[in-house]
Amino acid sequence: MKTILTGLRPTGNLHLGHYFGAGKNYLKMQDDYDFYLEIADVQALTDNFDNPDKVRKNVYEITKDLLAIGLDPHKVHIFIQSKIPQIAELTVFYSNLVTVSRLQRNPTVKTEIAQKKELFGNNGESITYGFLGYPVSQAADITTFDGELVPVGDDQLPLLEQCREIVRKFNSIYGETLKEPTQVLSTTTRVKGLDGNDKMGKSLGNAIYLVDDEETIRKKIMGALTDTNKIKKDDPANPDVCMVYYYHKLVNKEANTTKVCSECQKGTRGCVQCKKELIEAMNNFLKPIQEQRKYYDEHPEVVDQILKEGTSQALQKAQEQMSKIKKAMKIDY
Ligand code: ATP
Ligand code: MG
Repeated sequence: MKTILTGLRPTGNLHLGHYFGAGKNYLKMQDDYDFYLEIADVQALTDNFDNPDKVRKNVYEITKDLLAIGLDPHKVHIFIQSKIPQIAELTVFYSNLVTVSRLQRNPTVKTEIAQKKELFGNNGESITYGFLGYPVSQAADITTFDGELVPVGDDQLPLLEQCREIVRKFNSIYGETLKEPTQVLSTTTRVKGLDGNDKMGKSLGNAIYLVDDEETIRKKIMGALTDTNKIKKDDPANPDVCMVYYYHKLVNKEANTTKVCSECQKGTRGCVQCKKELIEAMNNFLKPIQEQRKYYDEHPEVVDQILKEGTSQALQKAQEQMSKIKKAMKIDY
């Protein structure tokens, strides 16, 4: 059985981007792979170090969201990153194998620094050592579990490339020890945000969360970006630049979506009506997930137990891998 490692940062609840870009894939893969799913609290702290309560709370929130979409804890090892010290250890070893300028050039890191001006300054001049180095720690995440396949969204591809470089460098110096991971891209491309941003993201404030209640959904969809050239209700418009049509395609039935598209183009559909229909479709889509989640909200001890077991299985794997690595590096005293 091949090993899969993937991670989620406990910085907020899961959103539609996670569901379509990641979670749906996990559901398909959980039967066929040895699947390690990391709740990346240490990584979340790299840009939330001043807000430990947020990270702590979201470890449980994310776990419950994952269980709610149907992940089976008997098949997937759901574990907490900070409980696996080998990852931190390996991050230190890898930090010798990557240059600072290579990290600064990493496109994912660059985009994220630009998005976090408040924290890292207008030109990234206040970037921390920890945040700049998070791709190194992500390489440690993957290789601690000997991850061969890594399901990620396309926003993460440069991070995986960075991991492969570290693996090659490690193997060329210390001998063939680590596997080069390959990505498993989901069939859905990146899910866009309510504001039209090409990524829906927890830190971008443009997400529809799986836990959003009816009133929240109504407000968010009512405020979603539509074709700005459409002024009057019966103006013909371009659905391809409208986020309401975009989400209809994700959660509504195909027949309804086709109707939305043609009526929008002809100008026989007003945006308010269109949004109301989307609100209904969205709530119908979220309902079964929220019903599943209720059980875990009412049974926090079950969630604790799942994390405990997943973490203990992950720890065992990490210890085995670390002895191999230390032997190769001649630090197996
Ligand atoms: P943050 O803003 O804190 O980084 P995030 O919304 O980017 O949060 P992550 O926990 O960083 O979420 O990402 C978890 C996984 O979900 C990654 O594999 C990522 O590629 C995928 N993912 C996140 N957002 C989207 C999206 N909008 N579309 C598709 N996949 C996504
Ligand atoms: Mg992210």
